[in-house]
Amino acid sequence: MSSIVFEPALWYAVTARDVTEGCVNYGQEFEVNPCYSNGGTVIIECGRCHQLMEIVAATLLNPQPEVS
Ligand SMILES: [Zn+2]
Repeated sequence: MSSIVFEPALWYAVTARDVTEGCVNYGQEFEVNPCYSNGGTVIIECGRCHQLMEIVAATLLNPQPEVS
């Protein structure tokens, strides 16, 4: 499991890896930028197998993007 801690209501650059064997994306890493941390829980779902991806890295964006 990921031990990455997100602070709520901030934007991050997140790297997530598909860990679902048999998925066409298995083992590949994907960057989600910007990724909103919501209430401190970030869930990234694979677009192919619809399983949750493992979050392998997260960097707080500095400066935070302007949100209109
Ligand atoms: Zn997948």
